[in-house]
Amino acid sequence: MLYSDDHCWQIMQQRDANYDGLFFIGVMTTKIYCRPSCCARPLRQNVRFFADAQSAQQAGLRACKRCHPDSISPEIRTINTICRFLDLQETPPSLRDLASRFGYSPFHLTRMFKAHLGISPRQYSDAIRKKRLASALSQKHTVTHAALDAGYATPNSLYYTNPLGVSPRHYRNGGSGLQIWYATIPATIGLLLVAQTAKGICFVAFADDETHATNIIRSEFPAATITCDQVMVADAILCVNNLLNNQPNYHDIPIDIRATAFQQRVWDALRTIPRGTTLSYAAIAQQIGQPTASRAVAQACASNPLAIIVPCHRVISQSGARGNYRWGSQRKATLLDHEVSADA
Ligand SMILES: [Zn+2]
Repeated sequence: MLYSDDHCWQIMQQRDANYDGLFFIGVMTTKIYCRPSCCARPLRQNVRFFADAQSAQQAGLRACKRCHPDSISPEIRTINTICRFLDLQETPPSLRDLASRFGYSPFHLTRMFKAHLGISPRQYSDAIRKKRLASALSQKHTVTHAALDAGYATPNSLYYTNPLGVSPRHYRNGGSGLQIWYATIPATIGLLLVAQTAKGICFVAFADDETHATNIIRSEFPAATITCDQVMVADAILCVNNLLNNQPNYHDIPIDIRATAFQQRVWDALRTIPRGTTLSYAAIAQQIGQPTASRAVAQACASNPLAIIVPCHRVISQSGARGNYRWGSQRKATLLDHEVSADA
């Protein structure tokens, strides 16, 4: 048997179909055997577990007529076996290694996964990792530890290249027809709110509390379908939080924002301002070749949908006053103080 009796019993209580084919439940009083997901509720003392249907039959049991344990295809059994194996891997194996371990070609294995689960083995592993990250983020003190615990690469192999790597996309009005997921994480200057579409990060902001966060995201995308989902946003929130804390990043997250050509130029220019330094609105206007456009630059900063990723907090007025910030001038001051002192 692959699993202990206690483990089997636990799985059986949850009627977890992910274990169908991996073991069978024999009910010795009624002389039938079932799959783990069967709705039958036998007593613990009447149950015996079998590694395969054949062993159950040899013990004199017949297949349950409700759950049809004899109709589990070998493919389902294989997929469940491989998935349970992947559940336990800290670092997902390569497709080639995984396929050879279970005696398939990479092509055949991928085709089998897609046919039964709709996703590839790699996508399955990524989903597991995201789930782990989301649960670790809610328990760990530091995001780096959470990421390491969830099976992300070690800090030595980290890289951070171009978070604005995807060309901006125009949303329809108010995000109509758009599915947006968001989540928050506590930061020193309030709640860090990160939202994303299926294509990439679409919004980063700071909020006072959860209610405020919900209001902000709903007013930004009034027509979108908005769901709070820690798991969906786990990668994105990790990425932005690392940026906020000047920690190396694990991978690029694409960006999915709406921008006019002018905003795009301003936001690109803002991203060249190094951490710990500031530029004036006038200097940015100069840099993008429109020296008289300081006011328009300030407006572009005020409409920046990606706090931290586009560091609009590093633009100050020519007099040296720190000026306004979309997410509060106090937050801007704290961010700048923190960046200067942390890097000193
Ligand atoms: Zn049954």
